[in-house]
Parts: sequence; structure tokens; C-alpha cells
Amino acid sequence: ATYNPATGAKICDVEEAGGTMESVDTGKPFLHSFFIDLEGSIKTLRYFAGWADKIQGKTMPVDDNFVCFTKHEPIGVCGAIIPWNFPLLMFVWKIAPALCCGNTVLVKPAEQTPLTALHMGALIKEAGFPPGVVNILPGFGHTAGAAIASHMGVNKVAFTGSTEVGKLIQEAAGRSNLKRVTLELGGKNPCIVFADADLRKAVEEVQQGAFFNQGQACTAASRVFVDEAVYEEFVRRSVENAKKLVAGDPMDPRTSHGPQIDQQHFDKIMRLIESGKREGAKLECGGFALQDKGLFIQPAVFSGVQDHMRIAKEEIFGPVQCILKFKTLEEVIQRANDTEYGLAAAVFTKNMDRALRLSNALQSGTVWVNCYNALHAQTPFGGFKMSGFGRELSEYALSEYTEIKAVTIKLTEDLGESGKRAPE
Ligand code: NAP
Ligand code: MG
Repeated sequence: ATYNPATGAKICDVEEAGGTMESVDTGKPFLHSFFIDLEGSIKTLRYFAGWADKIQGKTMPVDDNFVCFTKHEPIGVCGAIIPWNFPLLMFVWKIAPALCCGNTVLVKPAEQTPLTALHMGALIKEAGFPPGVVNILPGFGHTAGAAIASHMGVNKVAFTGSTEVGKLIQEAAGRSNLKRVTLELGGKNPCIVFADADLRKAVEEVQQGAFFNQGQACTAASRVFVDEAVYEEFVRRSVENAKKLVAGDPMDPRTSHGPQIDQQHFDKIMRLIESGKREGAKLECGGFALQDKGLFIQPAVFSGVQDHMRIAKEEIFGPVQCILKFKTLEEVIQRANDTEYGLAAAVFTKNMDRALRLSNALQSGTVWVNCYNALHAQTPFGGFKMSGFGRELSEYALSEYTEIKAVTIKLTEDLGESGKRAPE
């Protein structure tokens, strides 16, 4: 039995099984699978279930001789191609809005993580969904995924993953039936910490943003810009915190850090860490492999990172925190926006005027102020620039899963001059 560390209560068996399965699927620590992936999935399902009988059009006042209204109709068959970093959560982010708008879905999970998607298939069947409404198609990207993107019978495709594959999906849609496309791609997300911020909280939030899910998150806080006045102190505290992280067995509640998803990805992260050292950033702690255990990387903190270095430009998708120094507001806005991505950004300050100014200036789909990774089913999520287009979650997601039909009716009976009905 597992106990909720916050309340001390025993976690019920069905929920425990769900959390355990996602940890087995991905290697992420059980408490993360349970409190973030599973809970987030349940909240998302409940939120969109509430929309199911509220998908409705509008009436438009045109001239007196017409009545005009819109209907929000289902698109039809919606493909979903999802990644391995949040397999259950991404499955739900895709199926929940699609189903509540009356569509059918065809989901391809990532090859590394088919487990929870297949289990969801069994639960969906048990819940009594008619056959064919939710279809799960495990397989490789270049075969099963590519077939969904190019199929003439698929009316929409929603994709989460790399920018590289996102481009292929859009191309395939263009070459086939112009299916509707939404893309949620990567990020190189700036976090800006001002000298007046609550430094203890900022260090914790930013580091949680960098290392959460073993760094394998599109929202990873991968460029941390710190005001020069508190730079040294911020680095010192970040290193102190990072050293406390315990890598190990995902099922052990003391574990805060699990293994990377697979060997290929592990090797990519280690190469990027090497490039950081070579290009002159200072590796303050971590960044080495715990070889005896598996694909574990001790969380790394780099200081002295410069904008041109690979670790400051490329999406690492691993437990690597890059800390950069800034002097002025204008300078940090320009540097934060100097990336092809635009998924998320964060600002830490007690000065609300400054926070609002930055939330206007930062080119990203989400701006967090004094928090990080604060995601809610009610709030839209998606990118600017090469982080993709379209929005998931919230009311905004509904428009990605409906076609709008305008019905215009001409009234044939004339009104008399007085505005009253003409005599028969
Ligand atoms: P990926 O290749 O973009 O994989 C995402 C999904 O797309 C998987 O289901 C994959 O199938 C599928 N796919 C691959 N090639 C395809 C194609 N030609 N047509 C249709 N579908 C295709 O991501 P990855 O290789 O797992 O990771 C590479 C990098 O992408 C990461 O290092 C990270 O930078 C980024 N990434 C971003 C996110 C995010 O949340 N935005 C998530 C994961 C990765 P397979 O199962 O066969 O691979
Ligand atoms: Mg790939």
C-alpha cells in the first residue's frame, strides 16, 4: 500500500494501479505519476465531460430578410499522435476534447510507452463506449504515425512531439486531404528571476521546472536568466538544492528522480552536457551517469552559460539547468525572445508592474508569474512560433475539434410599410 505524503491517507487500489502502470511505462517516480499524470488526467476528463452538452452555436443579426445561425459540428475522425514523456496525460488531452465535441478518435501512442494507452482502451470498453469511437493503434511513427497523417479518411490530426516530426505531419496533411492540424512542439523556455523575487521560492520553482519528469518536458525551464545582483546567490542555492535530489527506483517514495526514457535519448543528453563543458559553461554539479543503475543522470546545474552555446539554444529534454546572467530589463526581453520557440516563459518578481510589462513582451503561449508548470484544464496551452499552433485544454480547445457551419435562411413573407404583416 502507498500513502499520500500530504494527508497520510492510504491511496486506493485502482488509483495506485494507475500510478504504478505509468511509472512502469515511463520510469517516472510513482508519486509524480500519481499526483500529476493520473490526477491531471482525471481533472481533464471531468472538465471536458462538463462541456459535452454545451457545444453550441450563435445567432447572427443580419438584415431583416434573413435568419442566420451557426452550428458547431464534429470534424469526424480525429487522429492523435502522442509522445512518451506524459503518455496518459497526452492521451487524455487529445481524446477528451475530441469526444466531447462528438468526434471519433484514433490514437497512436509512442513506441516506448504503449502501456497506459492500451489499459485506457480496456477501461473505455468497460465504460460502454460504442465500438469504433476510440481506436488505439500502437506502432512506429514512420509507419502507423505517417499513415494517420496522410490518410484520406482522417479529418484532423493533433500531434505532440518534436518540431522535426511536426513539420512532417503538416506536410503529409497538405499532400493528402488538407486535414486540420494542431501541433504542440518543443520549447526553450526562458525563466527570468529579478533581484526582488522571493529567492528561496524562485530557486525551488525554477529547479522543479528544469528537472521535473527527468527534464523530459516541453515546458522545461531550460534557460534561467538571473539578475546579476543575485546571480551568485541563486547559483549557490540551486546547486545546494540539486544535490539533494535522489535518483533511484521509481517505486520508492523517497526517489525524486527517475531514469531517462531510452538509451538513444540518454546518449543525446550526455552529448549536450559534454558540449556545454566544451563550450566553456561551468558544470557546478551533477551531469554524470549513474551507470550501475541504468539510464540515470544526476541532475546538472550549469552556470556561466552564454546565449550562443548549444545548451542555451537546443532543446535538451534532460535534467540540465542552464543559468545565465542579465543586467537590464530591455536586454533580458530581447535575449529571452531570441529563440525559434515560444511555448512557455516565467517571471519571478514582487513588482507587478514589471511582471505585467514582461507578460506583454514575452513571445510565448504561456507566461507564469512567480510559479512554474502551473497547468489547469481551464487554461489554454500551446505555442507561439515554432512551438506549434492550436491550443489544448480549456474552452479554446473546443474550436480545434469542431467545424463551424453557418445556416442562412431567407424569409419570403414581406412586411408591410407600417412594419405590420401585409393583408392576405
Ligand atoms: P517524436 O519523434 O516527435 O515522437 C512523437 C510521436 O510522433 C511518437 O508517437 C512517434 O512515433 C511519432 N512519429 C515519429 N515519426 C513520425 C512520422 N514520420 N510520422 C508520424 N508520426 C511520427 O519525438 P521523439 O523522437 O520521441 O523525441 C525527440 C525529441 O522530440 C525529444 O528529444 C524532444 O526534444 C522532443 N519531444 C517533445 C515532446 C513534447 O512534449 N513537445 C515530447 C517528446 C519529444 P514513435 O513512437 O515511433 O517514435
Ligand atoms: Mg523520433
